Amino acid sequence: MAGDEVIRIMCPNLGCQRVLAVPSSARGKLVRCRGCGSNIRIPVPRVDGAPPSQSGSSSAQQQKPAA
Ligand SMILES: [Zn+2]
Repeated sequence: MAGDEVIRIMCPNLGCQRVLAVPSSARGKLVRCRGCGSNIRIPVPRVDGAPPSQSGSSSAQQQKPAA
C-alpha cells in the first residue's frame, strides 16, 4: 500500500539494541521491543512541507508550445 512506510529504529536499551521495524502509523506511539520487552517511543519526524522543486532545472522545460 502506498503511504505505508516502515520506520526502523534501534532499541535504546544498550543490552539489546535490536532494530525494530514499525509502520509509519506508529509514530508518536509506544512500541514494545521484542528483544527486551521495553517500551520505545517512535519519533515523529518534522515535516514542514516538501520543497516544490529539488533540482529546479526540469520544470521550466516542461511547457513547450507546439510550433
Ligand atoms: Zn530491546
